[in-house]
Amino acid sequence: MGQVKDTLVKLKCSVCNRITHYTKRNKKKVKEKLALSKYCRFCRKNTGHTESK
Ligand SMILES: [Zn+2]
Repeated sequence: MGQVKDTLVKLKCSVCNRITHYTKRNKKKVKEKLALSKYCRFCRKNTGHTESK
């Protein structure tokens, strides 16, 4: 019974390139890179966010 560990990933705003959110992802289940629309507090609006290492 192995425990499945979620990996902590950073979400970077594609407009200002700052890390604005953190999320967890199971790399064994989700292989695609994340691309989400989230609120960026620096841009003060919803922007596209991509996964950053
Ligand atoms: Zn931003």
